[in-house]
Amino acid sequence: MTVRTRFAPSPTGSLHIGGARTAIFNWLFAHHAGGSFVLRIEDTDQTRSTQESIDEILDAMEWLGLNWDEGPLRQSERLPIYREHAEKLLESGSAYKCYVTPEELQEKRKEAQERGGVFRYNRKWAEENAGPDKPYAIRLLTPDEGTIEVDDALRGRVSFDASEVDDFVILKMDGFPTYNFAVVIDDATMNITHIIRGDDHLINTPRQKLIYDALSYDVPQMAHVSMILGSDQKRLSKRHGATSVTEYRAEGYLPEAVVNYLTRLGWSYGNQEIFTMDELVEKFTLKNVGKSAAVFNPEKLEWLNSWYLRNKPPEEIAGLLVPLLKEKGIHAEVDEKLAKIVKELSQRAKTLNDIADSLNYFYSDEIIYDEKADEKFLTHEILPVLQDITRRLTSLEDFTMDSMKEEFEKVMEERELKLGKIAQPVRVALTGGTVSPGIFEVMDILGRDKVLERLEEASSHISAK
Ligand code: GLU
Repeated sequence: MTVRTRFAPSPTGSLHIGGARTAIFNWLFAHHAGGSFVLRIEDTDQTRSTQESIDEILDAMEWLGLNWDEGPLRQSERLPIYREHAEKLLESGSAYKCYVTPEELQEKRKEAQERGGVFRYNRKWAEENAGPDKPYAIRLLTPDEGTIEVDDALRGRVSFDASEVDDFVILKMDGFPTYNFAVVIDDATMNITHIIRGDDHLINTPRQKLIYDALSYDVPQMAHVSMILGSDQKRLSKRHGATSVTEYRAEGYLPEAVVNYLTRLGWSYGNQEIFTMDELVEKFTLKNVGKSAAVFNPEKLEWLNSWYLRNKPPEEIAGLLVPLLKEKGIHAEVDEKLAKIVKELSQRAKTLNDIADSLNYFYSDEIIYDEKADEKFLTHEILPVLQDITRRLTSLEDFTMDSMKEEFEKVMEERELKLGKIAQPVRVALTGGTVSPGIFEVMDILGRDKVLERLEEASSHISAK
């Protein structure tokens, strides 16, 4: 059996991280088995589906590295296939035409409510209003009693009471399939072997099972994965912060971190936390998918992201930074300078944005001193020290970190000053603020000309105070 999985988003918004995890699980499962991963856009709800959402979902999937082997197939382009299957069910007597209009149903629902009862569809209504030119929906004839059973890879055998499922519509009056019908016809005709999806879809499973049975199609192996919850144990939503892949991308998260984190959310492999994509493909099985709901922990995602920032080649991070910097008006290139900056700043950064937000001084022509830092560190008392350092650095033959350190040590010794006393004013002079990578690293990256120019400027600035 060739494994075929699918991801079937409804394009009614962004790619939610719960959806992204479903996509990742299906992708990993297919790759682990050397099978195929199909992408299907479930856009039969014409009022809520948008092209913008499709574009965003595809973009987010590409960003995550979840390439698809087939698709994107669109349900809206497969209407004849659904009709054909519905007709087949009409012929076999497993389905029937229902002429009750949605308005009439609404009316009956209202009546039931007013009587204080529960609304239930009654198949006797189907023939009412029948006429040669009357529009009709097609409903599946469902059993009135018994149980509907589905084997779930994570939950074992799940049973549903057949009396809870009424004769539901499979093809609407407008010719569009209902959600459950389209899903089954697609999964069956696309030869999907495994359906891994959120357990919010468990309620659809009995209806879908009845459709498979009516068409004598095999039911794919189902696996309903528990939902992702927020820290308050409620289903993850906007209230908990960013919930879409696009938002995380915009906040400066790396796709590796997001994939790694989301996979671990609900799946585990001993205590291992960090996995390359290849390792995930090798190790991912449904056996290690947890049964209980996973709680989304933004700090852990942040921790993983910073790990990837530190451990990916700096040149690659530099490549990701260039467009972000451009947006800020900083024209940087992927070169040795930016790679060095990345190496330093990634030690403390949690996101790409953290790095992009704290490197302006490496590229700017002008340094703007932070007011408090200026007041505290660029003082008349420190002026002779700054001038001494400037003089020494000017006469340095080679402007290396080691030679700079030597000069600083001489100054410290002669003036009986600790490094902090000197480094902080120099830092303010070079960067405008009090937080930066090590001072020698900063000087090394800035290079001789910029360092000397800024030190001199700081001296003039103090003298003019
Ligand atoms: N279109 C459904 C959704 O976006 C998924 C259907 C399924 O996986 O069976 O939630």
